[in-house]
Amino acid sequence: MRAQESSVNLSGPAVFARVRHDWRREEAEALFALPFNDLLFHAQSVHREHFDPNEVQVSSLLSIKTGACSEDCAYCPQSARYDTGLPREGLMPLDEVLKAARTAKEQGAGRFCMGAAWRSPKDRDIERICQMIEGVKALGLEACVTLGMLTDQQTRRLKEAGLDYYNHNLDTSEEYYSEIITTRTYQDRLDTLERVREAGLNVCCGGIVGMGESDKDRAGLLMQLANLPQHPESVPINLLVQVEGTPLAGTEKLDPLVFVRTIAATRIMMPKSRVRLSAGRTDMSDEMQALCFLAGANSIFYGEKLLTTGNPEAERDKRLFRRLGLRMAGIYADA
Ligand code: SF4
Repeated sequence: MRAQESSVNLSGPAVFARVRHDWRREEAEALFALPFNDLLFHAQSVHREHFDPNEVQVSSLLSIKTGACSEDCAYCPQSARYDTGLPREGLMPLDEVLKAARTAKEQGAGRFCMGAAWRSPKDRDIERICQMIEGVKALGLEACVTLGMLTDQQTRRLKEAGLDYYNHNLDTSEEYYSEIITTRTYQDRLDTLERVREAGLNVCCGGIVGMGESDKDRAGLLMQLANLPQHPESVPINLLVQVEGTPLAGTEKLDPLVFVRTIAATRIMMPKSRVRLSAGRTDMSDEMQALCFLAGANSIFYGEKLLTTGNPEAERDKRLFRRLGLRMAGIYADA
């Protein structure tokens, strides 16, 4: 469907000029169907209203507990259900976590994200995580964790320890979700997000594309995120990294320009959020990443590894930033 042929009017200021929480499915789908140049023009215009267009926030990510997860997320090498050859590791000692945080800071990261492969953490785990958060904060970094589903009490404890952000992705549209995960529901995800908000934490929440979903699903994911009572402060958009042994290995690759369109629609629908290029950057050319920045991406994960998959080395990122005249945003630079 092309936007010009649809009954949705995308020309009015209501669509592009304000923060909205009432996106209709047809409007989101019509954004994806705009001519590429129009979509990028609108996205870049919205981006310039709210952000310095040449500044990119940089986060660093560390897997603090790897593998042996009881969930069945079809994209994930950390699920105990798939044989991917990934070594299983228990919760990392505090001193090793803080050593990695120091290195991340030296390389220019402003936020340090720690990921643990759990369905949900135990209370005794939370106390160890809180020590990590306190240590990361003492280094002058923002702290983010992703630990799975949380109770009210755990969420409050993390906030008390000084946590800035909690990451919990919706992954895909509500309709496509059961194709990807069967061990927890979409509503479980939304409930955890609500708890995180109630505790006063910032939310990092996005999804993954390239999992065989349609444009409708990509639009559906963004509609869910944009219609939350408050937009997530960070919206990571991941490109599926296909890992041998997971059910999604061998999925047809996503057209790179569809990925760029997804970034542009994210920028338009959540104008004040940091839109983050996350997993899958290793497979992206510099030119594709440049288009993503033009479409409104303004955050990246930086460093050699994401949770378990590769990430462009820091030097390649620095070269790309120089070529594009981009700067790394300072600490606490989020709008
Ligand atoms: S994405 Fe998270 S919850 Fe799902 S299998 Fe991987 S580690 Fe477990």
